Amino acid sequence: MNISWKNRLQEYCQKRKISLPTYRVKNQSGPGHMLEFQVEVKVNNQWYVGDESCVTKKEAEHSTAKNAWESLMGKSVYSVETSGSSQLSKTISTSEEHLDPVPSDSKIPEFKSMNHLPDEYAYIEQFIDAKVKENGGRIRKIVPLRTPGQYKFEIAGPYRFCENVQRHHRKNQIYFLVHPMEKTYFQKCHDPECYGFRSVLKNIADEQKETLIGSSKNHSTDRCSHCKILLTSKNRSECERCDEMFCEKCTRECELCCDAIHCERCFESCFDCHDS
Ligand SMILES: [Zn+2]
Ligand SMILES: [Zn+2]
Ligand SMILES: [Zn+2]
Ligand SMILES: [Zn+2]
Ligand SMILES: [Zn+2]
Repeated sequence: MNISWKNRLQEYCQKRKISLPTYRVKNQSGPGHMLEFQVEVKVNNQWYVGDESCVTKKEAEHSTAKNAWESLMGKSVYSVETSGSSQLSKTISTSEEHLDPVPSDSKIPEFKSMNHLPDEYAYIEQFIDAKVKENGGRIRKIVPLRTPGQYKFEIAGPYRFCENVQRHHRKNQIYFLVHPMEKTYFQKCHDPECYGFRSVLKNIADEQKETLIGSSKNHSTDRCSHCKILLTSKNRSECERCDEMFCEKCTRECELCCDAIHCERCFESCFDCHDS
């Protein structure tokens, strides 16, 4: 069954005795025979935008109503953006700092980009920073979105990894929409090829766990499980039987296992088991 989000939104307003939703086209782009629309809707003096590249106005209104309704119900996945992420506003804009004008009847202040997230979310910023730094990228600016608690992270430098194309773009940058309180984010892209693309929602805590596991396996502060000497890329050796890390001196080749690398303990037990 197809939910009529427009009806739901209308009922929402009727129940609360606030003026009915008003829709307007925010962006229209593309050649005449394949126009794309983005619509926004005003509910209770707040504008909510829909998906960027809808092929009909009807579809655009539908997605807008859905986003607005989910935002109002607190299920929002960053449905409201203030900054100029859409193609049309980019082509009109002469300055990088251009923001879509906040409707004049709105009480919401215009948001300025900032250098850092609030202190309590410093670790979220560090997470994004470390992620893009791996490929020489950096956070160019952080723009609070119109919905409180949500931020757009513009990325500069060679980090242009876009999940839509599964590689780094050559020229166009990507950006992240981050919700520090929910510890989630997703990636979007400035490349026209990726117009309207949005990656799946990601959980920052999960990804941090993964990188911790990944880094503990070959981290430079690892020590030999036997003699406790600090391991470097030069003296590092892994026992192929127990998978633990040792220094070169604490491992040796086991003839019984086709010269596989063994730690002392595994070498002994291997010898016993093949012997008997
Ligand atoms: Zn892309
Ligand atoms: Zn050792
Ligand atoms: Zn071993
Ligand atoms: Zn062996
Ligand atoms: Zn054996």
